[in-house]
Amino acid sequence: MIPTKGYAAQTPETDLAPWNFERREVGPHDIQIEIQYCGVCHSDLHQIKNDWFPGVFPMVPGHEIVGRITKVGDHVKKFKTGDLAGVGCMVDSCQVCDNCKDGLEQYCQEGSTQTYNSIGRDGVPTYGGYSNTIVVREEFVLHISDKLPLAATAPLLCAGITTYSPLRFWKVGKGHKLAVLGLGGLGHMAVKFGVAFGAEVTVLSTSPSKKDAAMALGAHKFVVTSDPAQVKAVTGSFDFILDTVSAEHDMDLYLSLLRTSGTMICVGVPSRPYSIQPFSLLGGRKSVGGSGIGGIPETQEMLDFCAKHNIVSDIEMIDIKDITASYKRMEKGDVRYRFVIDMKTL
Ligand code: NAP
Ligand code: ZN
Repeated sequence: MIPTKGYAAQTPETDLAPWNFERREVGPHDIQIEIQYCGVCHSDLHQIKNDWFPGVFPMVPGHEIVGRITKVGDHVKKFKTGDLAGVGCMVDSCQVCDNCKDGLEQYCQEGSTQTYNSIGRDGVPTYGGYSNTIVVREEFVLHISDKLPLAATAPLLCAGITTYSPLRFWKVGKGHKLAVLGLGGLGHMAVKFGVAFGAEVTVLSTSPSKKDAAMALGAHKFVVTSDPAQVKAVTGSFDFILDTVSAEHDMDLYLSLLRTSGTMICVGVPSRPYSIQPFSLLGGRKSVGGSGIGGIPETQEMLDFCAKHNIVSDIEMIDIKDITASYKRMEKGDVRYRFVIDMKTL
């Protein structure tokens, strides 16, 4: 077994603290990565708080992992020791169902194995990227370009693919008016991709102070959602809204901003069910859809797109001992726009 250092929550009530554990030895199809940076996703906070379902504790969060490969198994073909590599939200799936065969491992019909807060197919709990090393089967490891700043690449593994995938699926681009609801980790990546795909992008935000930064990200318009006059001005105007909000919010209000036949794409995961008035949908033939992360082939496509177009996340680098304080700031929407842990501080 491989002795591993990490930060874990022992229960949903306790703060993260140093914790030593073991990872499996590198098997013939496995890759071991020395983790250099790990992004901090709002899903980490939801899961250590048991917001969605009872979690597997102790919990080592972290699914925006980048680092360098230190060991590869005998049968590994696509990677070698010394390569940069990334790991996102999944570390395994059945590999044989229709969805896995289609490169949609996140929708594996047996259920994909999450990078943490999951029981692996070997029966052992999975532990995430707030740690110094990880062992992952080759199929779930991504190639990372050395052309981009590595720390700012980490958030692409979740925030990046989670926004890239639905924008591609719904073919959002030239001629479309896209609204991004919530300017956090996911939201700021959605702005960058929406602009790169040619859409007119409006940010819908509860935070007036984010306006200048939103425009600097490439957004064309910024709407403060607490200002009725600003909201009225965009009512009935968007083809798509990408909803990245992590907390309860007024779906009827936001649906009213879609034009006829418009689509609301939900990627945020509040802990309570949405409430939607039927008239908000049928008055204007509106659709509500959802999307979960992205499959491995599309994640690689997104990383390659980012390397080609020089797209990374805007980050605030943190020391791992400041993780609890950073969660508190993230809960208040106070991060520009993704915390990334420098794993040297572990
Ligand atoms: P984040 O950085 O905290 O951003 C969320 C943003 O939502 C905030 O910055 C804030 O933006 C806005 N917001 C917060 N509370 C709000 C409220 N009550 N009403 C309206 N807006 C509010 O979080 P994140 O890491 O981007 O994650 C966002 C959500 O996506 C989380 O629920 C996370 O679990 C989920 N997620 C889903 C997937 C997936 O596969 N679908 C993958 C990753 C994450 P403003 O200040 O601009 O209002
Ligand atoms: Zn995430």
